[in-house]
Amino acid sequence: MLKKASDQPSSSPGGSDFAIEARAVQKVYKGENGEPDKEALKFIDIMIPRGSIFGLLGPNGAGKSTFINILAGLTVKSSGTVRTWGFDIDENPRQARVSIGVVPQELVMDVFFTPIEALEIQAGLFGVPKANRQTMEILKAVGLEDKAHAYGRTLSGGMKRRLLIAKALVHNPPVLVLDEPTAGVDIELRRQLWNYIRELHARGVTIVLTTHYLEEAQELCDTIAIINNGEVAACEPTERLLARIDEKTLIIRPESPLGKVPDSLSAFDAQIGADGCLSVTYAPRTIHAEELFSLIRDAGIGIQDLTTRESDLEDIFLKLTYGVDAH
Ligand code: ADP
Repeated sequence: MLKKASDQPSSSPGGSDFAIEARAVQKVYKGENGEPDKEALKFIDIMIPRGSIFGLLGPNGAGKSTFINILAGLTVKSSGTVRTWGFDIDENPRQARVSIGVVPQELVMDVFFTPIEALEIQAGLFGVPKANRQTMEILKAVGLEDKAHAYGRTLSGGMKRRLLIAKALVHNPPVLVLDEPTAGVDIELRRQLWNYIRELHARGVTIVLTTHYLEEAQELCDTIAIINNGEVAACEPTERLLARIDEKTLIIRPESPLGKVPDSLSAFDAQIGADGCLSVTYAPRTIHAEELFSLIRDAGIGIQDLTTRESDLEDIFLKLTYGVDAH
């Protein structure tokens, strides 16, 4: 049985409730050859609760990789403070570093090693004593025990990704950071990887992932931070974020063509589309569908067919990142 993340020497100075605490983090990349400096992170605060599956969502160039590279100790921040599992990355860099495992985006691996060798080497790099290694347990946890002795080059893309997750787990970190875990993978493999991530989470690992797939964030994450242009545009539990847009659209195919939107619907965002359908956008919390139907019936409109459309993360995302109303 794989050790629970909570079995790990994870006592944190100050007993923080957060897996990651980033305060006023700024990153400026110095411009080279006359290029201007680039402020990739603009004094952002991100607090990631222990035990969460936290999604960092944002368009390309938003600053997601910069943020996780700072957590991973690969990029040096310009200012601000970061604690991982309670350890300040400047004051306790070693402990901060062993508190997280990072799964890179690219499938980088040495094709001449078998999974078992790759994990043993990684454990050596992290100074995990031989007696404490859990090589086979980890391979089993990611479904690679049958491939323990297969050469890296014979592994499929999905197996390689799972091996990268396994490598990030050798030192039993309480926090696992995945950079775009399913970028460019097919739907079936994406679902499989989501299941692995959920299993790890169920074992007590706090998961932080970056993604530009809205569906992935909506499906997997309990809390989402939307980053745009180096700033945090929103950081909330997924449900609350989705509830932010209290909007639903009712689309009606009328029995006979409509000349114009009836006056009784003037209080709503109502339109007649090119296909002749009447769409009415309303706030379900303030008006019930039944009242809306009454208004439509009273206007003498017969309903041949109807559908509804609810707002999703994509609407919120567009609104927050581009100031666009998706409707
Ligand atoms: P994301 O991961 O959200 O796509 P990044 O963190 O990679 O965003 O990049 C944020 C911004 O910082 C972008 O404008 C990018 O061009 C810039 N940037 C990233 N890395 C460097 C670097 N090493 N040198 C200069 N600019 C960089």
